Amino acid sequence: MKKHIVVQKFGGSSVANLDRIKVVADRIIESKKSDNNLVVVVSALGDTTDELEEMAFKLCPTPPDREMDLLMSTGEQISSALLAMAIKARGHDAIAFTGPQVGISTDSAHTKARVISIESPRIRKAHSRNKIVIVAGYQGLSPDGEITTLGRGGSDLTAVALAVALKAKVCEIFTDVTGIFTTDPRVVKSARKIKTITFEEMLEMASLGAQVMQARSIEVAKRFNMPIHVRSSFVKEEGTMIVKANPKIEDVAVRGVTTNASEAKITITAVPDKAGIAARIFTEISQKDVNVDIIVQNVSQSGLTDISFTVPRKELTKALAASQAIAKKINAGQVSSDKTVARVSIVGSGMRSHRGIAAKMFETLAKLKINIDMISTSEISVSCIIEEKHAKKATEALHTVFGLGNTK
Ligand code: ADP
Ligand code: ASP
Ligand code: MG
Repeated sequence: MKKHIVVQKFGGSSVANLDRIKVVADRIIESKKSDNNLVVVVSALGDTTDELEEMAFKLCPTPPDREMDLLMSTGEQISSALLAMAIKARGHDAIAFTGPQVGISTDSAHTKARVISIESPRIRKAHSRNKIVIVAGYQGLSPDGEITTLGRGGSDLTAVALAVALKAKVCEIFTDVTGIFTTDPRVVKSARKIKTITFEEMLEMASLGAQVMQARSIEVAKRFNMPIHVRSSFVKEEGTMIVKANPKIEDVAVRGVTTNASEAKITITAVPDKAGIAARIFTEISQKDVNVDIIVQNVSQSGLTDISFTVPRKELTKALAASQAIAKKINAGQVSSDKTVARVSIVGSGMRSHRGIAAKMFETLAKLKINIDMISTSEISVSCIIEEKHAKKATEALHTVFGLGNTK
């Protein structure tokens, strides 16, 4: 009998301590049947990754990326080894591997490496001996033989990439909520679990800040059409299926609302309004490896204009230094920054066929007297940058206005 492969991933809060590891071990043993082979990807225990990062920054303001990866990858090595031990203690056979040991090859972009290929003879060998395979998430090996990490939330990517490489039937993501909700259920109590969501919508929600799945993992799942089942490791119930668009999925205008308070805004005033200036500003900033997101240029008055843009809050210091340098070179005015902004977004592939969605969003914020600082749109989303202190109120109101709440 040819066995099928199931990939499961357990996130940090699912393995936060030894008791939780025991629960997860029981759950894994329960899902090991005679007709399947399991690969279990595991994240670092609880907040380990944050704590490791904090330690690094206490010792060194700009820690070298190579050593950062060496450090950060250890969290997942601990949890994978402990989980294999817990399974063995229950009388079942398991073997734990690091990412490099199961042939996860990446590029050399330390701290945000991309998976290039997976050659996994060791997984096949372990399966042929009926072992449960545990893999440390979030890591791989660069062509130079260096340990790399796949960006925060990267264990999701390890799981999806392994599922694709091993031709698994499904990739199950076990986490601390029961699925994908219409908005973060920890923030908005009336959030409702979504039964089925498309890769496209999930990718948009993840990119716009819904932390529940790493955006890059969804990109890979979409490219290779790998269905994902997001579900709870705490309670036993069906979660959310993330799948390719199909006619059975109800076409709603707005599927979800996301909030993201991890960006900051920079404004350069009195910028000479001439051809080529924007190119100079953003070339200089991108050379410092800062990702610029929304950009707004004001209407020019007497040949001068203000340019505002958002950057990840973590990169604000770097981005500010670059902005000040370029402002000087082009004879612009002041450079200011604001860390107290948040982005609220509405997402839904039905937006393509429904009209007036953006207007309804702006109206809702206006009724609450919330000023919109910046706006950005894609085919299936509208985002507004507002003051962070209004983010929760705005999210709740949009959630209600677009009929997403539990009462519906
Ligand atoms: P894990 O440790 O399992 O990787 P994460 O903390 O990365 O878990 O992701 C789960 C969290 O994502 C939830 O606790 C929830 O607060 C948050 N979240 C944000 N947006 C959503 C959403 N739309 N649906 C479900 N969870 C969400
Ligand atoms: N431990 C890593 C992080 O916290 C990877 C992961 O959990 O997915 O980002
Ligand atoms: Mg996560």
